[in-house]
Amino acid sequence: MSAKKKTRPPNPAAAHGGADDDFRLAEPYAPAPEATDHARIAPAYGLFINGAFVSAASGKRFATVNPATEETLSEVAEAEPADVDKAVAAARKAFGPWNRLKASERGKYLFRIARLLQERAREFAVIESMDGGKPIRESRDFDVPQAAAHFFYHGGWADKLEYAFPGRKASPVGVAGQIIPWNFPLLMAAWKIAPALACGNTVVLKPAESTPLTALKLAELTADAGLPPGVVNIITGAGETGSALVNHPGIDKIAFTGSTEVGKQIQRAVAATGKRHTLELGGKAAHIIFEDAPLDQAVEGIVNGIFFNQGHVCCAGSRLLVQEGVAGTVVAKLRRRMETLVLGDPLDKNTDIGAINSRAQLERIEALVRAGVEEGARIHQSGQKLPEKGYWFRPTIFTETAQSHRITREEIFGPVLSIMTFRTPDEAIEKANNTPYGLSGGVWTDKGAKIFGVTGALRAGVLWANTFNKFDPTSPFGGYKESGLGREGGLHGLAAYVNLSR
Ligand code: NAP
Ligand code: MG
Repeated sequence: MSAKKKTRPPNPAAAHGGADDDFRLAEPYAPAPEATDHARIAPAYGLFINGAFVSAASGKRFATVNPATEETLSEVAEAEPADVDKAVAAARKAFGPWNRLKASERGKYLFRIARLLQERAREFAVIESMDGGKPIRESRDFDVPQAAAHFFYHGGWADKLEYAFPGRKASPVGVAGQIIPWNFPLLMAAWKIAPALACGNTVVLKPAESTPLTALKLAELTADAGLPPGVVNIITGAGETGSALVNHPGIDKIAFTGSTEVGKQIQRAVAATGKRHTLELGGKAAHIIFEDAPLDQAVEGIVNGIFFNQGHVCCAGSRLLVQEGVAGTVVAKLRRRMETLVLGDPLDKNTDIGAINSRAQLERIEALVRAGVEEGARIHQSGQKLPEKGYWFRPTIFTETAQSHRITREEIFGPVLSIMTFRTPDEAIEKANNTPYGLSGGVWTDKGAKIFGVTGALRAGVLWANTFNKFDPTSPFGGYKESGLGREGGLHGLAAYVNLSR
């Protein structure tokens, strides 16, 4: 190549304010320098309050580890009530100006966050897999693009709320306290922050103790997007930090995703306070396979339903109901397929089953699997070799299970499937609904009428037919009974972040 530097000829159109100018973004931004970095994790993170990282008042920190290696990735600040106070005050101060901003301008910030997420997708995917243990294929192809999609979708609503709620005036609720779990850390942050901001609210969000990093990277990203200070505040800490946020008098709305147990505590805490709340809690979804289903596809659906994200999925298809005539065939196909799943390094793009999110979660899975064996169910585990370090669990299915077994009643939140059989559609419906949960469900059959007949009788908020675990920002998501209340996503999700008046 010639050493002489090539110079581009001047662009006459640009010089005359021509075509190039027409395509310029209204508010241009420089591409992020780290867009090309793979993963920049700082050795320590403060709390993101009022647009800047600050230390916790107590100076306390805790470690977040990589569950595949047990190595500490970073030390993050532990927020106590004084810090929660500061974050809520910042969100309150930002609320007025943010709410008064022209709605189309608010939308632009959401679009910009979405674009920056796309630009830095690789970095976010790598950090998500390192901090939480999920396979990079999932964080790359699912979590990060879905998070960006939520910001795009809600950016579109920001200046169209009068069409979302025709004939009524939508005003923001105020300051939202948001608490998210460790299974989809970035995506849950997007599910919470995007609709809140689109409707003119400001937020204080607490990520889970074991997976704080992508929320903190998102905090950095909101600053790079020029989001006004205080609109998004991210505070890290354990359950006590979440509890301090729930009980703070300056919070107008609580949005929580996590366990049913903590959801119930939150509901008690907000009773009679006037605080709005939505709770997205646990599940024990029935995945129903009829004899007339395309069985090979159904088996892929079952694998995706229970082994996606190591089964750390509230809507996982964790109870398989298979019609008697095909039960033997389905179990045999499933066992063969389980052996082909690649378990190991979450950062290897061929990995299907990553690490279990934490030692505590691994112990919970192990305890429930032991209970399954002790109560008399038959266990089938695939034979993958487990890495020496880290937290791992082999894909596991149980046959000969009974409705009374803990493994068919309790949420395991791991790669463990309980299989039962049924003879008639009515029996399938009766068994499917025999659970305190009501989050999701799935049906596989060749007959359209059966799809409508059975799904119409299932008491679950999200239902899939001839597919499973498919998500879209336009679809409301949420449950009945002990799976919680309220919806996230779609129009229903927006409604949770506005007060409506005539
Ligand atoms: P969890 O305790 O409910 O945690 C969810 C979030 O709430 C985390 O940010 C947690 O903080 C915070 N938190 C804990 N105690 C709190 C309190 N008293 N007040 C306010 N916030 C509080 O769930 P987990 O312990 O991580 O998991 C336990 C089980 O919950 C799992 O085995 C699974 O069955 C279920 N789960 C369901 C979902 C879902 O998507 N529906 C997600 C995760 C877990 P820390 O993480 O710092 O404790
Ligand atoms: Mg971690």
